[in-house]
Amino acid sequence: MSNGHVEPVHVIGGGLAGSEAAWQLATRGVAVTLHEMRPVRATAAHKSDALAELVCSNSLRSDDAEHNAVGLLHEEMRRLGSLIMRAADANQVPAGGALAVDREGFAAAVTEALSAHPLVEIRREEVAVLPLPQLDSVIVATGPLTSPALAEAIAGLTGEEALAFFDAIAPIVHRDSIDMSVAWPQSRYDKAGPGGSGADYINCPMTREQYYAFVDALLAGQKVAFHEWEATTPYFDGCLPIEVMAERGRETLRHGPMKPFGLTNPHAPGTKPYAVVQLRQDNRLGSLLNMVGFQTKLRHGEQTRIFRTIPGLERAEFARLGGLHRNTFINAPKLLDPTLQLRAEPRLRFAGQITGCEGYVESAAIGLLAGRFAAAVRHGEHLLAPPPTTAHGALLAHITGGHIPAEDGGMPSLRSYQPMNVNFGLFPPLSGALKTADGQRLRGTEKTLAKKRALTRRALEDLDYWIASGLHAAAAE
Ligand SMILES: Cc1cc2nc3c(=O)[nH]c(=O)nc-3n(C[C@H](O)[C@H](O)[C@H](O)COP(=O)(O)OP(=O)(O)OC[C@H]3O[C@@H](n4cnc5c(N)ncnc54)[C@H](O)[C@@H]3O)c2cc1C
Repeated sequence: MSNGHVEPVHVIGGGLAGSEAAWQLATRGVAVTLHEMRPVRATAAHKSDALAELVCSNSLRSDDAEHNAVGLLHEEMRRLGSLIMRAADANQVPAGGALAVDREGFAAAVTEALSAHPLVEIRREEVAVLPLPQLDSVIVATGPLTSPALAEAIAGLTGEEALAFFDAIAPIVHRDSIDMSVAWPQSRYDKAGPGGSGADYINCPMTREQYYAFVDALLAGQKVAFHEWEATTPYFDGCLPIEVMAERGRETLRHGPMKPFGLTNPHAPGTKPYAVVQLRQDNRLGSLLNMVGFQTKLRHGEQTRIFRTIPGLERAEFARLGGLHRNTFINAPKLLDPTLQLRAEPRLRFAGQITGCEGYVESAAIGLLAGRFAAAVRHGEHLLAPPPTTAHGALLAHITGGHIPAEDGGMPSLRSYQPMNVNFGLFPPLSGALKTADGQRLRGTEKTLAKKRALTRRALEDLDYWIASGLHAAAAE
């Protein structure tokens, strides 16, 4: 980039991510053109023409920065000068430990701040083509309801199979909450596969009675209905909800994702399980496992209740619960570099839910980083990614490479990358055991809380260090 370059950075989409990205650019002295298609063109969920409209709940979830990963993300965003957090704090409504907002006041505050900024131009228009060859820096932040024309253009750029229009989220469990005196590690028929060890799955055995009771619970459990506009989007391509499979017959699941073949339970080698639930490593750290084939429309409370009846998962802690929604997201770990640039076309960055993060706060946080990365390039600098010990860094690392692709018949499964909330399972583990002041090892709830406090303390210290020293790491080539 030559000095004195005045070309604005173009941000497509004025939602949670795009608004935050535009703010971060403008407050770093970089001109921005923000393209938002509403009200010229509507989405199926937005109701207004305001920027950063919250399409559903008015909650930004827990504000506890000591014990909760999303609360930590709030605090980090505040320290990074986030417009989304400033608008949320100024429009807070009482909600216990959560940060809930007056949605109209919140969106109006974001819209006014960006409209008033001299470096921000807001254009109300749909961007329907890519890669916009005349532009040298573009952030695509068009969200889960990206307009069909632009989605088609993105698919043209990334390859059809790298863009999903529906998510199929299976629950994710913290590895250390599984009872390994009941469950055991083993791949079916001990197959090592590429990069595997032959013991890549955690298996939870079920007797015939337990299996039938489980199927009954799935059938009776309360489900979330599809929105009308979701119901018309086809998703039945190998990702049926588990309860829909159960409806097809009482034996269907044990011939599908719960089949018991090729597995021997070392805790009871003489007894063949009637069905087996398998969990597979989901992140490089190995701290998170996904329940294979368990994508579901069961209500969250029902998922926790029913899945904790699975032997070995009685005390399971869920990093993410399952779901199926209309969504638009790219296979980011494959396509993006560590600063959210499309490897094949580095002028383009992606931000927000389209990268496969999930949630208002996560989308805004990834928008914040995209804005800062793009601003640094405009200033001829190279911004290092935040440390993976911070909430921003942990989420970014997951999106840009931390997820482990699953294999389907020896081929990397394109469906295995699914949207992710921020959670402590994404953070590198702490070194050393946690102890009381008098040197005793902590146990139970006390240990869980102390671990969270240690993780959040480490995160904020490392974030402050990154802010102080990492921002202008090196002049760009
Ligand atoms: C129905 C629904 C309900 C949800 N509920 C919640 C919830 O309760 N809590 C939660 O945390 N998360 C929820 N999410 C998930 C997600 O966090 C939000 O969708 C969030 O708004 C994503 O932020 P974003 O900036 O990536 O996308 P958005 O906030 O959707 O912003 C994208 C913007 O891009 C615009 N746009 C799209 N295409 C174009 C184009 N071609 N040209 C120009 N502009 C374009 C859109 O109009 C929109 O303003 C929900 C998602 C959906 C779809």
